[in-house]
Amino acid sequence: MTTTSASPQVLAIHGGSPVRPTFLPYGRQSVDEADIQAVVEVLRSDWLTTGPKVAEFEEAFAARVGVAHAVSFSSGTAALHGAAFAAGLKPGDEAITTPMTFAATANCVLYQGATPVFADVSTDTLNLDPEEVARKISPKTRAILAVDYAGHPADLTAILEIARRRGLVVIEDACHALGAEYGGQRVGSIADMTVFSFHPVKHITTGEGGMVATNDPQFAETLRRFRNHGISSEARQRQSAGQWHYEMVLLGFNYRLPDIGCALGIQQLRKLDANLARRREIAACYTATFRQIPAVIPPAVRADVNPAWHLYPIRLDLEKLTADRGEVFRALRAENIGVNVHYIPVHLHPYYRERFGYKGGEFAVAEDGYARLMSLPMFHGMSDPDVEDVIHAVTKVIACFAR
Ligand SMILES: *Cc1c(COP(=O)(O)O)cnc(C)c1O
Repeated sequence: MTTTSASPQVLAIHGGSPVRPTFLPYGRQSVDEADIQAVVEVLRSDWLTTGPKVAEFEEAFAARVGVAHAVSFSSGTAALHGAAFAAGLKPGDEAITTPMTFAATANCVLYQGATPVFADVSTDTLNLDPEEVARKISPKTRAILAVDYAGHPADLTAILEIARRRGLVVIEDACHALGAEYGGQRVGSIADMTVFSFHPVKHITTGEGGMVATNDPQFAETLRRFRNHGISSEARQRQSAGQWHYEMVLLGFNYRLPDIGCALGIQQLRKLDANLARRREIAACYTATFRQIPAVIPPAVRADVNPAWHLYPIRLDLEKLTADRGEVFRALRAENIGVNVHYIPVHLHPYYRERFGYKGGEFAVAEDGYARLMSLPMFHGMSDPDVEDVIHAVTKVIACFAR
């Protein structure tokens, strides 16, 4: 018997062969022929930007998430800025938010000249801990900005209760959570304003794009003006009414989502249910496997919640491993598994450290989570062999580093 060939269980990072020959990213869009056709049709039409597709996309989106108004924006970040503006955030105000998010969540508070005040997260979901939120409330607090981390809705009942007692606006950053449900209600219909992103890694894409969902007609009107220079009517309305006159009533931006993107969004939205079903299937498969591996902690799902699974972030039980997160990360990348880390807590970024004096150690649960987190590939276009590759690679790498 010859033993010259390397054992298949030698890690790629140690010179073994990788689990798969091609790189599997953590997230990726799916664009089909119908999507392409819809965009081409707009390119041949009269309206490239604010034409009929904007209202059509907004109406379809509002119907899907069960809300009265949906206002599209040129990105999720622009939509967050619009929500911060509509909430009335201004210099001297504070908005309480989570450090366990993409920087844009907190940045939109700064755009308005207000101050983001971070509150620590709950250990199980890494979503805002309502008790920590309550502790951070001051006379300057005007809003709470919750994030549905990884697609698991935030603790909305408790957060809304805190907000209602004090007259605060609740903005939900649901950029991870299109299609998620909380207590039988659809995300998008629960908070005062709910923000979505259509960046290609998210559930549906328009290239770049975003949306604010709200049941409040006043917020909706302010959002529509804010995204269009603060002008109180749209060019298309004026053209059909044969009017030239318009009025700028507030200082807005050009944050419009073009018809080209909206045509893509309309098509993508039609496939959302199948997309969610696939993500939930992958998550169930991952969780069933990773529950058996002592050093891997799969993401928690609370009762009465149906997550949308934008991400599948595992946490490593580092006490059971001879390697740290960085080493496990590099080993999985060498196996061609595109793991990622979501997120470096916002207060630890140099800008926030320098501006607000954070040194690390302020938010123990978020920082401990960060040290252990690793997002595994999760997108609806993953094949069964892709899912098996991820499971194989994680099992192989963890077995090698197990204590
Ligand atoms: C993607 C994302 C954003 C920003 O959305 P863009 O469309 O990229 O501007 C904001 N918050 C969270 C939590 C996100 O994941």
